[in-house]
Amino acid sequence: MRKKIVAGNWKMNLDYEEGLSLFSEVINMVHDEITGKQQVVVCSPFIHLHSLVQLAKGYSKISVGAQNAHQAESGAYTGEVSAKMIHSTGTEYVILGHSERRQYFGETNELLAKKTDTALKNSLKPIFCIGETLQQREANEHFNIIKQQLEEGVFHLDATQFSALVLAYEPVWAIGTGVTATSAQAQEIHLFIRNEIASKYSKEIADNTTILYGGSCNPKNAGELFAQPDIDGGLIGGASLKSRDFIDIVKTFN
Ligand code: PEP
Repeated sequence: MRKKIVAGNWKMNLDYEEGLSLFSEVINMVHDEITGKQQVVVCSPFIHLHSLVQLAKGYSKISVGAQNAHQAESGAYTGEVSAKMIHSTGTEYVILGHSERRQYFGETNELLAKKTDTALKNSLKPIFCIGETLQQREANEHFNIIKQQLEEGVFHLDATQFSALVLAYEPVWAIGTGVTATSAQAQEIHLFIRNEIASKYSKEIADNTTILYGGSCNPKNAGELFAQPDIDGGLIGGASLKSRDFIDIVKTFN
């Protein structure tokens, strides 16, 4: 059975103290309120990772993730952080291919394929994001775009490597906009992604792949989205910065 996961993406928010304080609240709420088997992942800026991992010790339902990693193993890349460094903090996950990285930092499918390889080589589990822009959806290109992102970003992996991934469908037009994909729109794409995985690898691998939905997910809409048969949880931006909202989304799986 595939894992149910709710991951928070803090983006470039919260200073060191604020991050630790929010994470402590999340830990307490997960401990007191989460009764299901869902996994909670908090993806913070690099500066928090080591401390969050220490705080999460002993809480098996909570994991920590980074939001990016460099494609090279090490070297003269001033200001960058490698997958090995991230892993050395005890961090388990890394978001790759977020639309903000694609849009503002020019990350292409080709680059993301390299980042995925390096992350996996260093025992990080990528949360690999894919999704179409509004313009692409309006031009009815969304299925082709998703297929291309999969083929060029992750379908070079062998079956064992692919099985370590979590995928996140994040329609760009729904990220941070307050506009959510309808549960039918999201389910349609999630099923499409699962079918693509089945054709490329196997039905078993497709059935075991966790596919998250991301885009203006909140405590009010999470229930309907997560009830869809091919939606296995969420990648949560804005609402992950408020412990109450984030945990209420996680509680959808209780
Ligand atoms: C995200 O950035 O991954 C995201 C889904 O953001 P938001 O929930 O704020 O739309």
